[in-house]
Amino acid sequence: MGALSDLFGPERVAVVGATDREGSVGRAILTNLQADFDGDVVPINPNRDAVLGLDCYESVASAPPVDLAVVVVPPGIVVDAVREAGEQGVDDVVVITAGFSETGSEGAARERDLIEVAEEYDMNLVGPNSIGIMSTPNGLNATFGPENAESGSISFMSQSGAFITAVLDWANDHDLGFKDVVSLGNEAVLDETDFIREWGDDPDTDVIIGYLEGIDHGREFIDTAREVAEDTPIVLVKSGRTEAGAQAASSHTGTIAGSEQAYEAGLDQSGVLRVDTVEEMFDYARMLSDQPTPERDDVAVITNAGGPGVMTTDAIGDSRLDLADFSDETLETYGEMLPDEGNIYNPVDVLGDAPAERFREALDIALEDRGVGAAVIVAAPTAVLDFEELADIVAEAREEHDAPIVAALMGGESTEAAAKKLQDSGVPNYFDPARAIRSVGALSEYRDISERAHEPPREFDVDRERAREILERVEGRNDNSLGVEAMELLDAYGVPTPEGAVVDSPDEAESVAEGIEGDVVMKIVSPDILHKSDIGGVKVGVETDDVYDAYEDLITRARNYQPDASIIGVQVQEMADLDEGTETIVGLNRDPQFGPMVLFGLGGIFVEVLEDTTVKIAPISEPEAREMIDDIQAAPLLRGARGRTPADLDSVVETLQRLSQLATDFPAILELDVNPLVAGPDGVQAIDLRLTVDKDEL
Ligand code: ADP
Ligand code: MG
Repeated sequence: MGALSDLFGPERVAVVGATDREGSVGRAILTNLQADFDGDVVPINPNRDAVLGLDCYESVASAPPVDLAVVVVPPGIVVDAVREAGEQGVDDVVVITAGFSETGSEGAARERDLIEVAEEYDMNLVGPNSIGIMSTPNGLNATFGPENAESGSISFMSQSGAFITAVLDWANDHDLGFKDVVSLGNEAVLDETDFIREWGDDPDTDVIIGYLEGIDHGREFIDTAREVAEDTPIVLVKSGRTEAGAQAASSHTGTIAGSEQAYEAGLDQSGVLRVDTVEEMFDYARMLSDQPTPERDDVAVITNAGGPGVMTTDAIGDSRLDLADFSDETLETYGEMLPDEGNIYNPVDVLGDAPAERFREALDIALEDRGVGAAVIVAAPTAVLDFEELADIVAEAREEHDAPIVAALMGGESTEAAAKKLQDSGVPNYFDPARAIRSVGALSEYRDISERAHEPPREFDVDRERAREILERVEGRNDNSLGVEAMELLDAYGVPTPEGAVVDSPDEAESVAEGIEGDVVMKIVSPDILHKSDIGGVKVGVETDDVYDAYEDLITRARNYQPDASIIGVQVQEMADLDEGTETIVGLNRDPQFGPMVLFGLGGIFVEVLEDTTVKIAPISEPEAREMIDDIQAAPLLRGARGRTPADLDSVVETLQRLSQLATDFPAILELDVNPLVAGPDGVQAIDLRLTVDKDEL
């Protein structure tokens, strides 16, 4: 039993602010509670003796003891009402009243008071500004919405109250039931993470679904959700997010890795199935609560129609699934069973004259093939096919086999009775085969999520003090950025850099170049010049004899570009082998909700043009770092496509982890680009650096 089991399973509920005034929220809640709740309901209102036929009490203190208080009093007296409940030992409270942080500074202050009281009495508080909660096992409907939920095994949370009423209205028409429902409201105390944790512990919740606009404590959410998702699927509908709180970007990473990327990465790392539409949310939820996950991604398609068979094949091609390759034995059996014109290869065509029984045989044969993980029945109406009979047959097969089965009975009214039968047996039916395939895809995705191995991030032995000293160099400057003059930051965190130094005279430049074997690279170093090569501020392959002049030239270029630019000097750097190596980018950024994040991608000067990048929330583990390499399209380049020598991927993986550690160790680092990190066969080299530092966080 979870910590919130009393919230959803109270025996006696007080409605504080109950009234019989027509059209009031207090009346709606009382009416809803009276309708179906198994326990007792106690109205609290000092101005009434009775409300809707129930004895009314002056206060929680004078009422019989309750275990849940639903508060609907005016905003100004909510805090007092909650405190009184706390004094009476009520642990669970739902605050329906609005007029808190969503309304401005006065409301925000009120919300802070509310949080303080909840903390003082250690209360589980939902809301404020919530439409309430529901729990079907005991008929609890402590909301002011127009409909109660039907019972089921899906638990549902929403940051939008209106979305709940809309969904319940729809769900009730579609025979979709719920275990618990919660309108999260302002989440002053309990938030999405608390309910995910609760439902993860709840044996009666098979699937968690939700509508979220934002996530408050990103890291805690990730850690909780990924644990819960091992056993309980979590499906969240995507909603637009504002860029509020995101700082103006001054790096490539900042430009690419915005809050939408953070959200996507965070949900992915959490093991959440993210959907774009409400329809998908329910398709997935239904599938996940009714059907087993497939052991493999190979799908058998059984159809009586050519065109729809092709559509299904295309949908499989667009999904993460594959069209199954049948074994020789299967093909032989099909050959014996099907008429000559039938197609024994996948998609199996049982032909337009197939009665339901032929589908059944074909389905059994497919599911007995060990190379088949799931099956989809695609059927168009014909004179000989009885859809209801087909539905019975599919339902039987679903019971006998341990693989997911979905149906696309393509038609109108003629499919309705069959669809109902299918649904009752846990087999979804869709007109569109692509939708059927997406639902199987969700099962496959969830199987992978539940099998993910989570490792803790590795802790490298780094020189934190030296890193801090380097970051502190921004203190004396008028802006907050550092460039290649801070390369030692990378040394301190064990990221390899080529030999080199920043100098401020042509003579010094020469002497550094003499100490470096071969030609050198020279770069202008100025906090005012973000992208050095854009102004001709990078010279590659400079011979020692030309270093003096190159120095002068770089300074001139910088002056021409921006006469008042503050110039630190010129970096003289050993050449990296770009023939053998690939330019990648590793970046750090900070999201207001998820905190530090790491970016990896194809680097160089075209990074924003190509945008072949991927993002994860830090800290990342070794397998997560490895996954980042797989995530980019250019991964084959690193693996040695077209005769190239493969890059040392272990070094890339290690660099990603080390920089992830840097981001977590120093919240003061707002954005950081290592671009390029040259990844070659003998390891990596970071040859450029830019970062911005929040002086106040140092
Ligand atoms: P910026 O990104 O500010 O233009 P970089 O230091 O990243 O400056 O240099 C731009 C490009 O010049 C790199 O992407 C790389 O192609 C090349 N380059 C820079 N330094 C080296 C080096 N040490 N060895 C080889 N090529 C280099
Ligand atoms: Mg660069």
